[in-house]
Amino acid sequence: MKVYILDTGYLETDKNNVVGGATMGTYSNPHVKNEWIKLPVMAVLIDHPDGKILYDLGSNPEAMNGYWPKNLQEVYPLYQTKEQRLENQLALCDTKPEDIKKVIISHMHLDHAGNLDMFRHADVYVSKADFMQAQTQVRLNADPLTHGGYIKADLDVSVKQYHLVEDDFEFAKGVEIINLPGHTPGLLGLVVHLENEGTLIFPQDCVYTSEIYGPPAKPSGLLYDSLSFFKSINKVRSLEKKYDAKVFFAHDDEFFKTIKVAPKYYK
Ligand SMILES: [Zn+2]
Repeated sequence: MKVYILDTGYLETDKNNVVGGATMGTYSNPHVKNEWIKLPVMAVLIDHPDGKILYDLGSNPEAMNGYWPKNLQEVYPLYQTKEQRLENQLALCDTKPEDIKKVIISHMHLDHAGNLDMFRHADVYVSKADFMQAQTQVRLNADPLTHGGYIKADLDVSVKQYHLVEDDFEFAKGVEIINLPGHTPGLLGLVVHLENEGTLIFPQDCVYTSEIYGPPAKPSGLLYDSLSFFKSINKVRSLEKKYDAKVFFAHDDEFFKTIKVAPKYYK
């Protein structure tokens, strides 16, 4: 089994969206300057003996050409080269979208479910709680300002079959799905046990950055349920200890520079 990290470009945003209250004024320093930071966006390809599995899909390449509403282009502008488009990252691993029969999506936000239209032929595994929230949120009101981080066009895609996940389970030999709610009502993380390089944990947006992870853990700027969020971080930490695992921080620019990206792989 091989695990490839796909570099699908990056977003930029105010740091307060990533670490809640990152810039706070004080009596002696009332006018704090905001920080504008870079957030790499990764997808993960698992070349498994039973078939290739893709975990998360990055953002739609037309995001900044009107696929995203203006407010999200302003708050989370996407930067993506031609080489960083999902199909070209897959090509680095000798893989075409049609080779992938199983897709797992951590949650339905704009930087994780953006290329679903390439996988209409696939079985797609999503968190039931997040999928229900996303579908409801994009349909109650036509105004995209009410849709939060979900894009209606992403949610309109039909696939072979959506599978709504509620419990933790072994998805394939050596690949476990774990539920990490908090950032959104539901979120699917991945634990992958490799022969040579041990256990890798992908908590995606449950743990944006190493600063969020701590200890002590910090709240992210975007939280659906703060109590579940901290419980989920503790769950990641206990799995890290149990397996002496390597935790991959979803959107950490410094961390991203330290990992192997496709065509290199973990095995
Ligand atoms: Zn994200």
